[in-house]
Amino acid sequence: MFSTTYLSPCHIEILEQFYIRAYATAPIFVGKKLWGVLAAYQHSQPHEWKKIEIQFLSQIATHLGFAVKQAELLAQAEQRAAELHKANEQQEILFNLVAEIRESLNLDTLFKTTVREMRKALRADRVGIFRFDHESNYTFGEFVAENVLPDYDSAIAIKVKDNCFGEKYAVYYQQGQIQVLSNIYEAELQDCHLAVLERFQIKAQIIVPLMKGQTLWGLLCVHQCRCPREWKKPEIQFIRQLAAQFNVALEHSELLEQFRSQTNQLAQTNKALKLANSQLEKLSKLDGLTKIANRRCFDEFLEREWNRLQRSGNYLSLIIFDIDYFKAYNDNYGHLAGDKCLIQIARAAQSVLKRPTDLIARYGGEEFIVLLPNTNESGATKVAKLIHKSIEELKIPHKRKNGIEDFVTVSLGVASQVPIIRTSPQELINAADQALYKAKEQGRNRWVCAAKVLFQ
Ligand code: GH3
Ligand code: MG
Ligand code: MG
Repeated sequence: MFSTTYLSPCHIEILEQFYIRAYATAPIFVGKKLWGVLAAYQHSQPHEWKKIEIQFLSQIATHLGFAVKQAELLAQAEQRAAELHKANEQQEILFNLVAEIRESLNLDTLFKTTVREMRKALRADRVGIFRFDHESNYTFGEFVAENVLPDYDSAIAIKVKDNCFGEKYAVYYQQGQIQVLSNIYEAELQDCHLAVLERFQIKAQIIVPLMKGQTLWGLLCVHQCRCPREWKKPEIQFIRQLAAQFNVALEHSELLEQFRSQTNQLAQTNKALKLANSQLEKLSKLDGLTKIANRRCFDEFLEREWNRLQRSGNYLSLIIFDIDYFKAYNDNYGHLAGDKCLIQIARAAQSVLKRPTDLIARYGGEEFIVLLPNTNESGATKVAKLIHKSIEELKIPHKRKNGIEDFVTVSLGVASQVPIIRTSPQELINAADQALYKAKEQGRNRWVCAAKVLFQ
């Protein structure tokens, strides 16, 4: 505070305008900066300012200076706290996104939740994920995820065509560059590109490339539509970090797709292999001509049933049958006709067997064998008769050597026994074979039971 005796005329003029007859002023300092002035005025009459009054004024001015400083500090602290809160919120979103990328195998869900959280954290008007149509050389694409305030148009599912983008901007994004625009009208954008931005009411934006490996997959877009916006460094950093996480997710999804398709292929190959194997197994057990079991299959089956019936103490029967004068049949009608005859006979004999455990097999050229578990001699004889009959009923013409006109017949040998340890399956086969031999000997076209052979 200082006293003055001389006032400039223009100053006096202002004082007179407010009828000021006397005044005292004290500076208000905020820190070292002159922030303002505290003034006391006397309008009624001149005033001789007393020392105590001047001290009072000057003290008040000093306190005011402190108070203003305090308020400024408080405001700064509040702003800092708000920024910290925002940064915290952004960190949390980032953390959640990373966690979600690890867990989620679904890109759509990931996109949706992230754009929503991002828009909230950035207090932006729209956040979207734009995916390029890769066939279009970056001129076509669409928003595949979006979160937008209700005041603005939704950009989702609108196919965006922006030819100049592909020509001018795509290359920069491909290099990993980002675009930060505080005001689209001050950015000297090409008219065609500006038109696309205006269509979505965009005033300011940050665009960050999304890469799938080395290729530009799409864009992470943060839009401000209400008014231009000065983007802050931490905000840009936050968006960059999120985009980096998206890139990881995109790479993941690619690997996952590859993995899935490989697994699918593998499953299909496996299925085909299993089918081929089971067909092969079937084929390896079937006789190629007659499609009934082959000898190998029969041998395995006999071994199994022999052991099983040995344990249970039940009968096992075998019937071996052979076509009568089949050589002559071949000679008369040819080998192909002989084959057909074999097929017919196999079918006829098979149709006689009713139990699921019964098995007929081709045992040799024109010799067949039938295995009947849990069947004694009388049961087996019945089956032998039925087989004989079924073949007789085929009435396959057969002119014999001696010129007699007849039909194809078979001779059968039957053998039954309860498997016991001191005998072998081969002995049972031999017994059935001998019975067959007897049948042939006795004039063919008949059946003979081995009991008569075995115990004679
Ligand atoms: P038998 O009454 O004593 O049994 O007289 P057979 O002529 O039937 O007996 P043989 O063992 O002398 O002849 C069997 C014939 O069966 C010889 C062979 O040509 C024929 N044969 C064996 N396997 C096949 C085949 O797969 N297809 C055809 N067409 N004929 C076969
Ligand atoms: Mg034979
Ligand atoms: Mg024969």
